[in-house]
Amino acid sequence: MNAKELARLIHKTVPETDFISLDADRCTGCGECVVVCPVFIWELEGHTASLPADYRERCLECGACWQVCERGAICFDYPESGTGITVLYG
Ligand code: SF4
Ligand code: SF4
Repeated sequence: MNAKELARLIHKTVPETDFISLDADRCTGCGECVVVCPVFIWELEGHTASLPADYRERCLECGACWQVCERGAICFDYPESGTGITVLYG
């Protein structure tokens, strides 16, 4: 299943508070988060990853960026109950 097909199966209520953060001091710019994110949220600015301001609207909450970061630079927590994504038929 690709990201477009997955997007058709989800309902999203954009969380009002942040649920991903980056500790730029720990980031080495390896780019693993950029590669793994299914909706292309992460970018590299020089040797540091960056999280755009609209990530809460686009993120699928898969946690892959958090899992793949060997430096522990990414902090991920699921959005507050009642916000974020709901997988239809899941
Ligand atoms: S995976 Fe971690 S260390 Fe690598 S670019 Fe992303 S945030 Fe930085
Ligand atoms: S949780 Fe998944 S969709 Fe969201 S930014 Fe990380 S890799 Fe991308």
